[in-house]
Amino acid sequence: MPDQRALKNPYKDYDGTQNLFDPQGNLTPSFAGRITNKINDLLTAMEKGLKSADPRDCTGYTGWAGIALLYLHLHGVFGESSYLQRALEYVSRSLSLTGRWVTFLCGDAGPLAIAAVVYHRLQRVQEADECINRLLQLHQSVVKGVGSLPDELLYGRAGFLYSLVFINQQFGQEKIPIQYIQQICDAALASGESLAKRNRTQDQSPLMYEWYQEQYVGAAHGLAGIYYFLMQPGFVAGQDRVQSLVKPSVDFVCQLKFPSGNYPPCVGDERDLLVHWCHGSPGVIYMLLQAYKVFGVKQYLEDALQSGEVLWQRGLLKKGYGLCHGAAGNAYGFLALYKVTREARHLYRACMFADWCMNYGKHGCRTPDTPFSLFEGMAGTIYFLADLLQPMRSKFPAFEV
Ligand SMILES: [Zn+2]
Repeated sequence: MPDQRALKNPYKDYDGTQNLFDPQGNLTPSFAGRITNKINDLLTAMEKGLKSADPRDCTGYTGWAGIALLYLHLHGVFGESSYLQRALEYVSRSLSLTGRWVTFLCGDAGPLAIAAVVYHRLQRVQEADECINRLLQLHQSVVKGVGSLPDELLYGRAGFLYSLVFINQQFGQEKIPIQYIQQICDAALASGESLAKRNRTQDQSPLMYEWYQEQYVGAAHGLAGIYYFLMQPGFVAGQDRVQSLVKPSVDFVCQLKFPSGNYPPCVGDERDLLVHWCHGSPGVIYMLLQAYKVFGVKQYLEDALQSGEVLWQRGLLKKGYGLCHGAAGNAYGFLALYKVTREARHLYRACMFADWCMNYGKHGCRTPDTPFSLFEGMAGTIYFLADLLQPMRSKFPAFEV
């Protein structure tokens, strides 16, 4: 199907002869060196561009917390202390909290969680603990108020939950007890059951979620993003509820698949147009792979592999090179497939999308509103390129557990 929103993929598909990495998935020194050089070039351009960025935007999505998260990631990958210093500078700018939203990407939890990790790496224990205490003060408001707070990733419960997961991952210990996470999942389940009953759709899907009166499907605002978290081991107390509530709800999303293998942005939307992490198979793929891991049903893996084909054919977007709706974000779908299957084809495809990203700005793509930000712009592209240097440890930022 011709798609006006993507550019034609100019790359030859994997045929076993390309050697950009060894059988263990380590990139060749020359390809890794090319990526590292490009990261440095793009960082220089990003720093220059950020001088005219909105000084009040503190969010992870388009603001200072996102830039801090990039530098924290670069510190993790390259181990250079100057990156940690940069992360500290940017996260300090992001801490003028607004109290408006509670999530990692668009609310106060992101700046607090990122600051906690920066302080932790600097061994400033007291400041780290203060940030975590402030973060946990938000917890009650997230657990209560079913119906008043959305459940999706950008503005809702899943987005607050991620900040707790982030702390525990980065501290390498259960700094925040699992009960805090389980309470959020309990609230999300109650919210999903209540809406499914209200809509009388519980026979098709025991859980249902909406955001601004739309039943979104994708990772950013929708069902796939929420179910991805509800299927993480231990997050929902009681495996029986994962079986009886989450699994049939995941199956409902699976039934929405278009003949192409892509997924609609909303339940009932018949237009097969968007191949973004935020809307479409590039975000749904994480739910499918997690369902495969948890329930062991082969069909989930097959649907995920089909998403991979959609990504390969329609993933080089005219919207640019970013994470939310760009080539870098779509490339993470290949890395997710690679981590589960260890098949070279998927890593190769991620490398080709990286090659595309390394020709940043040369394809006539649109310039996003925040051209240097983590989720729309250059910072996200750099984040992905750094992750490609360690494919098995790669994680879509602010989302993958
Ligand atoms: Zn998007």
